[in-house]
Amino acid sequence: MSIASNLETIRKEIQQLSQGREVTLLAVSKTKPVSAIENAIAAGQRAFGENYVQEGVEKIHYFSEKYSGLPLQWHFIGPLQSNKTRLVAENFHWCQTVDRLKIAQRLNDQRSPHAQPLNVLIQVNISDEESKSGIAPTEIMPLAQAIMAMPQLALRGLMAIPAPAKTQAAQEIPLAQMQKLFIELQQAFPQAAIDTLSMGMSDDMATAIACGSTMVRIGTAIFGTR
Ligand SMILES: *Cc1c(COP(=O)(O)O)cnc(C)c1O
Repeated sequence: MSIASNLETIRKEIQQLSQGREVTLLAVSKTKPVSAIENAIAAGQRAFGENYVQEGVEKIHYFSEKYSGLPLQWHFIGPLQSNKTRLVAENFHWCQTVDRLKIAQRLNDQRSPHAQPLNVLIQVNISDEESKSGIAPTEIMPLAQAIMAMPQLALRGLMAIPAPAKTQAAQEIPLAQMQKLFIELQQAFPQAAIDTLSMGMSDDMATAIACGSTMVRIGTAIFGTR
């Protein structure tokens, strides 16, 4: 199947599943060549997710020269080491994997005051996996409070990568927990634009949308296997 027809299929699915609610489709283009991204752009896709800082920055530079008129949006969605924060702060529009104060502080310090604030999501380790990045649910509020005081960052919500589950019932547990945490965050900061709950990948998109996801991150179902 072509990238354009994959996108069309996924957009239709999202529309049916979300029942009129706005759900953003983030195309995860990690490891894929610029030609694949160009196909997606030609099919109307504008928001892209990248996991590796260097690869992402190279693509951002390429597209900002070649398609300077297009409002492409680049999301960093990979694990972020503190020595790589500057490249993220200077190039991306979003960072979805903020999971500690030090990273938030560095992103804030390194984001130009002349640029729009960097949109950030707090990554939650909702399945409590030892190997995964993200903070425990109890640590969300203190980190959110700290980020609220950082002028170059705009806290937009939460992100999670739940552990793979075999059944829909098993998928639902962490996704429903995320929905609860997201609502609590919105209630704690009613003045802020906390509008993004980033969850759902190729395998759990439907369940994630049923649990209130506002942004699904889809790679394989758009671009094929990596
Ligand atoms: C790779 C990746 C995705 C996309 O996963 P697919 O299963 O290919 O849809 C989504 N989110 C994150 C954080 C990823 O690393």
